Amino acid sequence: MSIPRKKFIAGNFKMNTTSSEVASYLEAFRVATEKVNDVDIVLIPPFTSLAKASEILGGAQKIRLGAQNMSSEAKGAYTGEISASMLRDLFVRYVLVGHSERRRLFGETDEMVRRKLVTALKSELRPILCIGETLEERQSNQEKTVLESQLRAAIEGLSPEEISEIVIAYEPVWAIGTGLTATPEQAQQAHLFIRDYLGKLSGTSVANRSRILYGGSVTPDTAVELLSQPDIDGALVGGASLDPRAFAKIVAAAIPQE
Ligand code: PEP
Repeated sequence: MSIPRKKFIAGNFKMNTTSSEVASYLEAFRVATEKVNDVDIVLIPPFTSLAKASEILGGAQKIRLGAQNMSSEAKGAYTGEISASMLRDLFVRYVLVGHSERRRLFGETDEMVRRKLVTALKSELRPILCIGETLEERQSNQEKTVLESQLRAAIEGLSPEEISEIVIAYEPVWAIGTGLTATPEQAQQAHLFIRDYLGKLSGTSVANRSRILYGGSVTPDTAVELLSQPDIDGALVGGASLDPRAFAKIVAAAIPQE
């Protein structure tokens, strides 16, 4: 019998929310999620809000923090970069790696994504690895090839233990910030494909335990159906996570049904 995977909901604030705004966000979000158990919740504000958020959350187990990016280097002359140990020092547990905005706007290659992933794992930060195809790639039926190659480049050769620390986010680029959500069927198909491919790289036991999130214009209205698909284990939410009440509704959609 397979063990059910705990649902995982992460909110990527992108370049929004100042350190002073994060306090009122957290107040509203904590009230709105007070009764939620059995869902892993991760907030991913900008670097500059992490210290404040960490101070407010204290050691609270219920809401964890993630970072939007991280250097692959441990320390040194890398002006403007933030290291894994700096994040750990703020009690950050997760880090986004390979978000499509980093790949597309900041030239992050598969090789850079892999280096960051490896650094995160060595530093006991859990990577949320983002993969996904562009509209052009989907229209030319390339999505499986793209998912396979991004996943292989990032994790091939890692041990099953390392791979089991990674949360994967399937984020079709055409659905990010566009208001176009993949249909539950499209998303489920992609998730199943990713899980099967993970099984080839790391064995079925790791693949069955791994959590695969869907990301791309998720809203409270689309969350319920997406999250009820068998291979969708959670959501990575951008725009809709900026409103604490809307984001809490997405979290509520992930509560296991009796
Ligand atoms: C994201 O930034 O990862 C994302 C999915 O954004 P949005 O929900 O706004 O599409």
